[in-house]
Amino acid sequence: MSFKQARKLLDIIFIAEMVFALLGLALQDTFLKTPIFIVVVGLLFSLFYVSATYLKCPHCDSGIDPRLSRQATHCPFCGEKLE
Ligand SMILES: [Zn+2]
Repeated sequence: MSFKQARKLLDIIFIAEMVFALLGLALQDTFLKTPIFIVVVGLLFSLFYVSATYLKCPHCDSGIDPRLSRQATHCPFCGEKLE
């Protein structure tokens, strides 16, 4: 997976995470609470997994801070273009 694909995937996971978290809050006292909680925790783990595994420079392999990755066009370590 390329850096750009990883960033896109992280956006999708993050939005899904928010949707399920809000859903969990809205449906607090129903039988759906537990499965939603499991999904939210699972999404959280995949968020960490994808950013730790794929969010890195394709040239020097340095990990890019997920908070910086949205604006970053070049690697802060080696200066190469991120794509
Ligand atoms: Zn680099």
